[in-house]
Amino acid sequence: MKITFPHLGNAYIAGKAFLDELGHEVILPAVNSRKTLEIGSKNSPDEICLPFKLFTGNYIEGIEKGADTIFTVGSCGPCRFGLYPLIHKQILDDLGYSVNFIVLDAIREDFLDFKNSLSQLLGTTSLIQVTKSAKLAFKLINMTDNLSQLSNYIRAYAVNKKQVNKIMDDFYENAVQSFGANELINIINKTTDNLRDVKLDKSISPLKIGIIGEIYTIIEPYVNLEIERKLGELNVIVDKSLTPTKWLDHHVLSYPFGSKYETTKFKLAKPYMVDMVGGHGRETVGSAIYYKNMGYDGVIQILPLNCMPEIVAKSVLKRVAQDLNFPIMTLVVDEMTGEAGFMTRLEAFVDLISKRNEGRNTEIG
Ligand code: SF4
Repeated sequence: MKITFPHLGNAYIAGKAFLDELGHEVILPAVNSRKTLEIGSKNSPDEICLPFKLFTGNYIEGIEKGADTIFTVGSCGPCRFGLYPLIHKQILDDLGYSVNFIVLDAIREDFLDFKNSLSQLLGTTSLIQVTKSAKLAFKLINMTDNLSQLSNYIRAYAVNKKQVNKIMDDFYENAVQSFGANELINIINKTTDNLRDVKLDKSISPLKIGIIGEIYTIIEPYVNLEIERKLGELNVIVDKSLTPTKWLDHHVLSYPFGSKYETTKFKLAKPYMVDMVGGHGRETVGSAIYYKNMGYDGVIQILPLNCMPEIVAKSVLKRVAQDLNFPIMTLVVDEMTGEAGFMTRLEAFVDLISKRNEGRNTEIG
């Protein structure tokens, strides 16, 4: 199989190593760019959400590079995501591309379907083999996410923030050129050492901000205009409420009960939102409260324009912010989002929180 998949944050790094191990030829789609978005927008329904358009662009770029199979995840519930694979298949058929789709839906929706898709990908129906491979995939994804989180922590304290960015850029460059799990693990370990060698300024007292909202926008740097780096450069430690590791833990590893982290968030959201509203709308509300309880200084909700679940969550977050006296800012991104305006809003939010904290410290003092 010549297999490609859409970009979902840094998951492509672990995804490539995992598929290498399975013996597939991996066709990595180009990193998301203006060109990807133009191709995607041109071939997607106008009103559809931004992630859909980028997926379309990724698929077409992957197919043009020779891919004959697309691997993606699916879902159901009151959100457009469940329809993505169906509509994408139709669009690609209409464009004359003949590709096979392997769609991995959440286990809770149909265990047999999940197992069949996984078996198709792995080329085996042996449950032992499937479990072994799934564990390896999880380990790689987890290591990549931990590395990215470490870089967020180091960046907030680093004397030279650009050095951290360079280490991470080198990591991504080397990782896509590596082959298989062992090579990737070596690169991750080396990058971890490089990050730990970065000179820190111990006089910095970083703010802590949680990023909440729609999963794709949280994890995909092209869409969120590299929010983690931007905040890190403002001496902020950033934590993402959703990552590929957290998603897999909740939907696959902790099946059927769900991960402790996510179920805690559902409970926290309950006074404000009892039912699911699709996507991660309910988790967004729970995450805001979670970060408040964890002593964070504020949260930023990020969502693509027209994202139904997050629009619902946004309206609830106003109440949460008032009730908990907790700073929450919402950023909506789309094809037209400009870097300068985005940066100004981040700086203003960080400024506001710093002043608020100063005032509080003065009161306490
Ligand atoms: S969560 Fe929002 S952006 Fe994501 S697929 Fe659903 S509606 Fe679209």
